[in-house]
Amino acid sequence: MKKVYLAGGLLALAGAAIWAYAGDEIQFRLGGAMVNVGYRLQDPIADYDFAHHLLTPPQVWEQFMRQNQMASSVRQQWPRTSRHPVVAMVTCMDSRLDTNEIAGDTRRYYYVLRLAGSVLSVKEEEMLELAADNGVEVIVFTTHTDCAAEKASKNPAQRAKYPNLVKSIEERDLRFQEFLDRPNVKEKTAAGKLMVKWMDLDTQTERVAPHVRAGARLRPNFAEPESFR
Ligand SMILES: [Zn+2]
Repeated sequence: MKKVYLAGGLLALAGAAIWAYAGDEIQFRLGGAMVNVGYRLQDPIADYDFAHHLLTPPQVWEQFMRQNQMASSVRQQWPRTSRHPVVAMVTCMDSRLDTNEIAGDTRRYYYVLRLAGSVLSVKEEEMLELAADNGVEVIVFTTHTDCAAEKASKNPAQRAKYPNLVKSIEERDLRFQEFLDRPNVKEKTAAGKLMVKWMDLDTQTERVAPHVRAGARLRPNFAEPESFR
C-alpha cells in the first residue's frame, strides 16, 4: 500500500513540475485546439455569402444582429482581459484573412489596421506612429495573394470603374516608404526600438513570408530599406 502512495505522490509531483515548467504553453495550446474545434464546427454551415445567398438584406441584417446579441451577452458574462499591444498589424480587408489566425493568438496583443489593398494614408501613418509612441515595438505590414484590389488595378474595366482604388494601389510602395521616412519612425528603427516588416501573406494558409517586390527591377533607384527584408 505504501508503494501505491509513493507512486501516486511521485506522479503528482511530476505533474506539478511539468505544469510549473510548461503550464502556460500547455494551456495556450489547449485553448488554440479548442478554438479550432469551434472553427471546424461552424465552418461547414453556409447561411449566406455570394454562393449561398438565399436571404434578403433585411434577413441578413437580422441574423447579424441576432448573432451579435448572443456573442455580446456571452462577453458580458465572461469579460476578456485588456492588453497593451506591442505589435501592430496592417492587413487588407479580405474576409479570408483572420488576424487571430495570422498571429496564432486570440488574446488582444495586436493593433489591427485593415485597409483596402493595405494602402496607408497619412492618417494611418500617424496612427501607427502613435501606436509606436505608446509602446508598439513591431509593425507587421502585410499584402496578400489573390487580392481583389490588386486584381482591379490590372483589369481595364475595373480600372475605369474604381480609379481611386487603382491609384492608391499604385502608391502603396511610396506610402510604405513615406511611413519609414517619418523622422520619429526613422529614429526608433535606427535605435532598434521599432521593427517594421513588410510580409506577403498566403491567403489560403495565412502563412507570412518576406515580401517580394514585383516592381523592384523596374525602379533600380528605389532604395531597399532594411525593413523590406
Ligand atoms: Zn486584398
